[in-house]
Amino acid sequence: MSIFKKLKSNIVRKVKMNRDIKYYLNCNCEIHPYSESIRIALIYGIVGVAWILFSDEILSTITDDLNTFKKLAIYKGWGYVIITMFLIYSLVLKRLLLFEKALMEIYKNFEELNYSNEELIALEEELRQQYNELETNRNVLNSLAYYDSLTELPNRLFFEEKVNNLISSQQIHNENFALIYMDIDNFKHINDTLGHDSGDLLLKYIANILKYQVKSPDIVARLGGDEFAIIFQNINDKVDVINKVQLLLKYLRRPWRLHKQEFFISYSIGISIYPWNGKNLAELLKNSDIAMYCVKKNMKDDYCFYSEEIEGENSRHIKMVNELRLAIDNEEFTLFYQPIVSLNSGRLIGAEALIRWTHPAKGIISPIEFIPLAEETGLIHDIEKWILRTALIQKKKWEESGYPEIKISINISGRRVTHNDFLDEIKRLIIETKVNCYQVQLEVTETSLMKDLNKSINVLKQIRDMGIKIALDDFGTGYSSLTYLQKLPIDTVKLDRDFIKSISNLELDNVIVQSVIKLTHDLKLQIVAEGIETEEQLLFLKLSKCDYGQGYLFSKPIPKEEFEKILICS
Ligand code: C2E
Ligand code: CA
Ligand code: CA
Repeated sequence: MSIFKKLKSNIVRKVKMNRDIKYYLNCNCEIHPYSESIRIALIYGIVGVAWILFSDEILSTITDDLNTFKKLAIYKGWGYVIITMFLIYSLVLKRLLLFEKALMEIYKNFEELNYSNEELIALEEELRQQYNELETNRNVLNSLAYYDSLTELPNRLFFEEKVNNLISSQQIHNENFALIYMDIDNFKHINDTLGHDSGDLLLKYIANILKYQVKSPDIVARLGGDEFAIIFQNINDKVDVINKVQLLLKYLRRPWRLHKQEFFISYSIGISIYPWNGKNLAELLKNSDIAMYCVKKNMKDDYCFYSEEIEGENSRHIKMVNELRLAIDNEEFTLFYQPIVSLNSGRLIGAEALIRWTHPAKGIISPIEFIPLAEETGLIHDIEKWILRTALIQKKKWEESGYPEIKISINISGRRVTHNDFLDEIKRLIIETKVNCYQVQLEVTETSLMKDLNKSINVLKQIRDMGIKIALDDFGTGYSSLTYLQKLPIDTVKLDRDFIKSISNLELDNVIVQSVIKLTHDLKLQIVAEGIETEEQLLFLKLSKCDYGQGYLFSKPIPKEEFEKILICS
């Protein structure tokens, strides 16, 4: 058989078989074994019956001979067997072939299903991985959005959402909670002196204490910088809050040790209570901040509840800042001059310029009140420009009216020293006023220079190179340390009046004053005693070889006209 024919018969067989499969399977894809078996049995039965009925008839028409008939009957029997054998073979083969084909189809489909299943499992695994990745990303994003990376405390966003939720639920449950606003006092100083890494470390330590002490449902968060906020829930009265805050402070007020240096830090805490001090987050935060600011103003290291009086004080503070802004243009500032006397000769050698603010309604306001405010708001730059110019012009006038030896001493804040325009300003004024700069002295305090010590030292050195003298003011207060006496480029030390006040019959205090005077002289510096009020103090200072003195015993700070009268008499 040619290949073509083989192929053709194969195709015909397949087409037929497919048709047969469809035939055997009705539209519901069901096989009917009973009807099929009956069909085979019927075909076999009909062939058998037809054979029995007609085969002998046919034989008798072929032959009359009995022997031949017998022989043919044997062949007929064999023929029957062979025919039925082929019949059964063809009937069974046809169905078994269909069965085989169906099995093959099932197997093929099973293989395909298996393959699809494996693909599905792989896809599921891939999807699971993608989901896990998404979940991790979501967690990372969540922690970036809601947690502070340095301290791992919740951040401002988290805190705000929580408080807003709390307010919504408290409106239903009618419960109070306290919002605590906490700020580390002088944190900038810690950063400046110990470095930012130490500052960060300290923030982490503090955050850990807060994390450990503030237990759910209370909330603690870092709002930014050195500011933390806490929510104490289910508060009945202020006593509840005080107890909780004091417990917290017990753990926070401890000695710290960084880079082998031991130090203490204090905290300013403002408290507002929902719903009494604010109906929403913004009001609560604002009022806690006002309460905290009140602590800061009153020497820090304490806590304070918001109240309407504090609010009033705060608005007075804001009003004062606005008035201070206008004071220069309105010519409300004047300079007073306090004589500085040589203790050895008793002669007037110079004056310290001290600012006075004559407020149109409140009268004279002390510099102790408004200089810190001016520093805080940056107004100090304009105010001190005015002071420097006015004092130098005055000094020049005294030079021209026959008192060239009178020195002028001018107070300068630390913020001003490190300001970029400060050096140029001095140079410009020295040229403009043509003043003898060897008799000009600037007074600076250690504390104010600390904020940027290296830059301050650099600027002060350049000022000294011009011939201007530098005095270290208020020595004996704040951070006073003997190392700075050597480190800072200074000519004079001004011994704080608290030292002078302590001069008495008590041996120890007197020994301290004498030692400081001696040490200053050993360092080739001059010393001015501030705040001399009694003859006894004067005598002691004279005996201790203090160079100069200043105080009410000689004169209070006075207007220029009065100072000039003293000049004439001296
Ligand atoms: P300070 O620089 O230590 O100035 C000396 C302060 O002591 C002056 O107070 C002066 O009136 C006061 N005083 C002088 N002698 C005596 C005394 O015998 N007994 C007592 N109890 N006090 C005496 P004042 O003028 O109120 O100034 C206070 C502070 O304000 C100054 O302290 C200084 O830190 C600051 N200040 C004053 N004027 C200026 C200024 O022009 N610029 C800057 N940056 N600060 C100034
Ligand atoms: Ca001073
Ligand atoms: Ca002083």
